Amino acid sequence: MPQSSHHPIMLCQPDDKKSCGACCGLYNWHDHSRDALNAILKLQTELFLSHSNYDNLNSYRVLRNRALKNTKLFETIYNCEFLGFIDTDHKKVGCMLHPEVTGSTELRNHCFYGAKVCNEHFCPSFSCLSTTQQQSVVRSVDDWYLYGLVITDIDLVKEFFKHIENKIGESIKEKNLGNPGITDAFGSFYRLKQDWKFKARQNRLGKYYFSEAEYNIARIEYGKEWGVPPSRFDKILVSLESEFSSLDQLNEADIIIDEKLTRFIRVYSTAFIES
Ligand code: SF4
Ligand code: SF4
Repeated sequence: MPQSSHHPIMLCQPDDKKSCGACCGLYNWHDHSRDALNAILKLQTELFLSHSNYDNLNSYRVLRNRALKNTKLFETIYNCEFLGFIDTDHKKVGCMLHPEVTGSTELRNHCFYGAKVCNEHFCPSFSCLSTTQQQSVVRSVDDWYLYGLVITDIDLVKEFFKHIENKIGESIKEKNLGNPGITDAFGSFYRLKQDWKFKARQNRLGKYYFSEAEYNIARIEYGKEWGVPPSRFDKILVSLESEFSSLDQLNEADIIIDEKLTRFIRVYSTAFIES
């Protein structure tokens, strides 16, 4: 999680309602449900704060490792023990060693990556998503759990934009994102990421699936399973961690996404496109 940025939006800590900790290993747990991650963050925060100074971080680390009940999803990704809630309301996930949090000198060298890496890492969402795409997430998602999942899911965001812009025949303009109906329509689509009814049950995180020390990009076998061509929403379905047991389920999934798309286009066209 970097400290400052020349990027227009600081995606890690965009405002006082939410933040992201994905690159610090937030979601890299077998059970990465909201409840499970909330429990880990609460444990780490309370334990860390109970160590009243920063001279006994090793003791914190030992106690934290002993108390953890979850297991890592992908072994070679580091799950940092210094990720916690950095506000009293537990709305913001962040680095408990960050100088702006400790008010002290740089302590991130106590973590596996070290301060230089932590400070200089900007995930691909900074460069692969346009400012408008980034804003669509920041404006419409206001909780840490969903925000981190969506802002780091480049395929999900870009594909939704691609389908919308193909339909309306122009780019979505950043100046139009302040419209409340647009914010609601984006939020309704992005919430699929947490509410998706066809979510695979095991070892998935977005488009990746994990098997022991390996990870791969997941695929939906349309031809092999049902003798049909790939869905036009294939990338979105994969990002949503879809697993289907029948063609009916696949068709239902397509309809749900199409409804989100249609809703967005109706709101956007009514507000901003002259007929
Ligand atoms: S995954 Fe990206 S947005 Fe999230 S904390 Fe890391 S650098 Fe920031
Ligand atoms: S020390 Fe580095 S890896 Fe750990 S929470 Fe802070 S920024 Fe993330």
